[in-house]
Amino acid sequence: MELKYTVLVVEDEKNIASFIKTVFEANNFNVLVAHTGNEAELMINSHCPDVIILDLGLPDMDGMTIIKQVRQWSATPIVVVSARTDENDKISALDSGADDYVTKPFGTGELLARVRTALRHARNADVGIIANEGKFVSGNLTVDYDKRRVYISGNDIHLTQNEYKIVSLLARYAGKVLTYDNIMKQIWGPNFQSDNQILRVNMANIRRKMEENPAEPKYIYTELGVGYRMLESE
Ligand code: CA
Repeated sequence: MELKYTVLVVEDEKNIASFIKTVFEANNFNVLVAHTGNEAELMINSHCPDVIILDLGLPDMDGMTIIKQVRQWSATPIVVVSARTDENDKISALDSGADDYVTKPFGTGELLARVRTALRHARNADVGIIANEGKFVSGNLTVDYDKRRVYISGNDIHLTQNEYKIVSLLARYAGKVLTYDNIMKQIWGPNFQSDNQILRVNMANIRRKMEENPAEPKYIYTELGVGYRMLESE
């Protein structure tokens, strides 16, 4: 199974939205489309897209509001697409947490490049990953952020989308304890159920695929009652 990036396109002009959708689907992305700010907020919270392409001029709200709301709980890259050419708009969008800004009209090649760069920057938040050419390596474990695959001793362990998201999140913060709530929020969105049963089920599956002895994990440790911690990269 191929794991694709999911991009949410927030754009009220339907022809532009469907044009962007076509281009990104042709380039191997899953594409979600929202035509209003409210729709966008619902989709961001329920689908947790990997990247957001955001038009600032929406019928029901200013796109800036969305940037600020998302940044309260998530580092998901946001690429603003707007007809506004004013430098101040650009600066305030970036200051509010947007990753990049493309002015309409734009070429599709340019938009694709900007989105890929934003995804790469988000991935490279950890310096160890930059040093390792897009990979996190610890012992026999390799997380390949480009291919979105996880290998043990060179063998693909075939994680599901959510399992991959959990492992890559822990790898990005390797050595640090991530709380159950923090992980739940990053994977299932801010409206997650406070019961972390779903996370424990996913972790049990991850360990079955990843660990020689799932009862004595070597890569992802449980901090009892707190969360999980990934073994640091050497
Ligand atoms: Ca618009």
